[in-house]
Amino acid sequence: MGLSAVRPFQNRGDKSVLRLRNCWAVLASLGLGLTLSTSLLAADDLPPMKVQRVGQDLYIIQGQAGAASSANAGFISNAGAVATGAGLVVFDTLGTPPLGAKMRKLLEEASGEKVKLVVVSHYHADHFYGIQAFADPGVEVIAHPKAEQVFQDANTGLRLAQRKQDLFPWVSEETKLTLASRKAKIGPGQNETFQLGRYHFTLIDGLGAHAPDDLMMRVDELGAVFAGDLFFTGRVPFVGSANPRIWLAALDRMAEQPPKIAIPGHGAVSFEPQKDLDLTRRYLAHLSKSMAEAVANMQSFDEAYAAINWSAFKNLPAFEAANRLNAYGAYLHAEQEALKK
Ligand SMILES: [Zn+2]
Repeated sequence: MGLSAVRPFQNRGDKSVLRLRNCWAVLASLGLGLTLSTSLLAADDLPPMKVQRVGQDLYIIQGQAGAASSANAGFISNAGAVATGAGLVVFDTLGTPPLGAKMRKLLEEASGEKVKLVVVSHYHADHFYGIQAFADPGVEVIAHPKAEQVFQDANTGLRLAQRKQDLFPWVSEETKLTLASRKAKIGPGQNETFQLGRYHFTLIDGLGAHAPDDLMMRVDELGAVFAGDLFFTGRVPFVGSANPRIWLAALDRMAEQPPKIAIPGHGAVSFEPQKDLDLTRRYLAHLSKSMAEAVANMQSFDEAYAAINWSAFKNLPAFEAANRLNAYGAYLHAEQEALKK
């Protein structure tokens, strides 16, 4: 059921709904005790969400492109599930509690199974805020051992305050962020394996390449890997402040058993993971090597960036948006590593 007053604005796709939501956000931020329940703004008001069935038991939900905004209701990340015959194993919970609830309903309808277990890729807002929709006694939620430290970090609180503004009413005072009910049994560079129903699962430590608590999940019999934000299909990745060398090592861990299908945290699913892995590896290696050389030659970042040959990558999607920032991050890592020598 939806809030009928909102839908006509939303369907026109104009800025009215943004103004309406911004108005609520202002009221909320003024602490006026606004009691508008997010349950009034239920699934019908969210952007369309489709469940993609890949093979017999694999279900994938793909978010929209771009940054989280009022217009896309925070639906920018991917999630998925495996029907095991003994319940669904879900990977990630999307970026708001209503998205998580909608996703759970669609996955349970599509598969005819109830959610049994949820694995969280990492505690970034766009991947775990839907966790509230899975908080019931019949569901076990698993995260990386370092998720607790990330969850308690001041940045998590700051991000929640920001999301309450940007994604109100989808994220609001009613949003309850919680830790997983158990930690994955892994140390650095280790895996945890378990079986549910007809499938064997492997939880893979992502070496903290993208976030301290990166966790990937392989479904052995399906040759599928849920890679969270460590893998991108056919485009330049957002490396951000991550160290390209550690990221390369995380990709090696992802490919220990070469996957046939890889589900990234954002964007299209890869049905040619080797090709996409090779592309990402070549890109990260180029970043790392060229920036290490620039630092060794005492070049400034601008000078090095202008001189580097980017032709192998510059026609790829997201190059313009991501490359300079990625290169700068790699330059800073190269500087730190040079100073340690
Ligand atoms: Zn992330």
